[in-house]
Amino acid sequence: MTTIPQPVAAPASAARNFLTRAGKLLIDGQFVDAVDGRTFTSMDPGNGAVLAHIAEARAQDVDRAVVAARRALDGPWGKMSTSERGRLVHRIGDLISEHAEELAELESLDNGKPFSAALGVEVPLAADMFWYLAGAATRLNGSSIAPSVPYLPGQEFHAYTVREPVGVVGQIIPWNVPLLMVAWKLAPALATGNTVVLKPAEQTPLTALRVGELLLEAGLPDGVVNIVPGYGETAGARLAAHEGVDKIAFTGSTEVGKSIVRAASGNLKRVSLELGGKSPNIVLADADVEAAIAGASLGIFYNQGEVCSAGSRLYVHRSQYDRVVEGIAERARSIKVGYGMDEDTEMGPLVSKEHFDRVGRYLGLDTGTTLAGGKLMDRPGYFAEPTVISAPEAGHPLVREEIFGPVLTALPFSDLDELARQANDTVYGLAAGVWTKDLSAAHQLARRLQAGTVHVNTYHVFAAELPFGGYKQSGWGREKGDEVLQQYLETKSVVIAL
Ligand code: NAD
Repeated sequence: MTTIPQPVAAPASAARNFLTRAGKLLIDGQFVDAVDGRTFTSMDPGNGAVLAHIAEARAQDVDRAVVAARRALDGPWGKMSTSERGRLVHRIGDLISEHAEELAELESLDNGKPFSAALGVEVPLAADMFWYLAGAATRLNGSSIAPSVPYLPGQEFHAYTVREPVGVVGQIIPWNVPLLMVAWKLAPALATGNTVVLKPAEQTPLTALRVGELLLEAGLPDGVVNIVPGYGETAGARLAAHEGVDKIAFTGSTEVGKSIVRAASGNLKRVSLELGGKSPNIVLADADVEAAIAGASLGIFYNQGEVCSAGSRLYVHRSQYDRVVEGIAERARSIKVGYGMDEDTEMGPLVSKEHFDRVGRYLGLDTGTTLAGGKLMDRPGYFAEPTVISAPEAGHPLVREEIFGPVLTALPFSDLDELARQANDTVYGLAAGVWTKDLSAAHQLARRLQAGTVHVNTYHVFAAELPFGGYKQSGWGREKGDEVLQQYLETKSVVIAL
């Protein structure tokens, strides 16, 4: 049994059609059942209904996928010209764009997010990632070097470097922006000529599987991308530890990231990690207050706060504190929380019952003054109120730990040095925001903040060209931009005696 469609909303026909056939693993160019026939359910977090039954990959399915990916390296994919490969990667972007509404709807149903956000922001970003990196396929050039070898005087050499794909790449992604994570992972891996085994999050497998169909439609050879939905402890752990995998690219929590590193040590596979965050958003005394209120609200409430780079710690200069914090609280109270597919919904449910309970535990902690929200919502589905907590104790778990929900803590500051110390006083280092009209102060803070991205007078800018990743325990390496290519290539030096 692979599909039992029970859509409860009224999805548009393309997405509904997909739900009737979704549910198999993509291995070696074929959609297949799990070896042991197991399935798990994909749920709609807006109402708890079952969307589809999905084949559950476990160790033996991951093994089959890795074998297929290894074989595909030596097949037509390995022999394809870089120009052809680039055009194929571009075509994947085209197909994502052509199916934007369907993908946005699947994403909204599976994750809960507003359809408008999926359609307006995330699907275009996903397509753009493939378009941007398509051009890189033909520009993976090495360099020419004339080495001087001190212990071989008088001998001349010519050398050059070649950049080659790492090989079979395992990719493990989270549930918060599932389609975008597929794009961030697949586009660079394919542009650089690798083959892939991708494990989507168990909460949100749908768009990855639909992209799997689009990959075949684009003409990707069999086995180049294999998609194996399943649980982290089984399918994910197998992939991370697999001796047949040359590199693992992981996005998820810092805790699981550490277990990925341990699992990868068996064959010392390459590891790149995009992990958690607790990003400071800083409003200086001279900031455009209205812009800061709007930007800080977007920074924490976009995608229900389920964004790794969410600006979840607000620091406001004491002179503007009440105005800014009350302004954000007022916005929080007016956010229309609802079912993702309803037209006027601005914020959807949390992704799952488990995550809902986790956010609820944080909301149950008592510190500071709750200016907006503060509770889980008593209605079907997993909804939480947009929450603003003013002046919690510094060092409180609400201020230190990643909640990954719509919960903002706000603290006043007076002194810039003290502010910089507090902003950096975290194990994370993914993003930061600065609101000011003082260019010099902005650049100085940008230098001092230990974060992979610093936004100035804006927040949540994700463009394909911008490297993205974390300092400290927010990760290893960068995704996007040209920097991501390093993550998927080996450099070979060829030395010739003349
Ligand atoms: P998670 O770490 O629980 O799960 C992420 C993925 O890892 C899932 O596919 C899961 O099945 C898999 N997994 C779980 N345990 C595993 C194991 N032992 N071995 C191998 N795989 C395993 O994270 P989540 O709750 O799905 O996502 C939220 C987290 O992801 C947050 O911490 C967030 O900050 C982070 N995140 C980071 C970025 C980034 O780019 N830095 C982007 C999105 C999300």
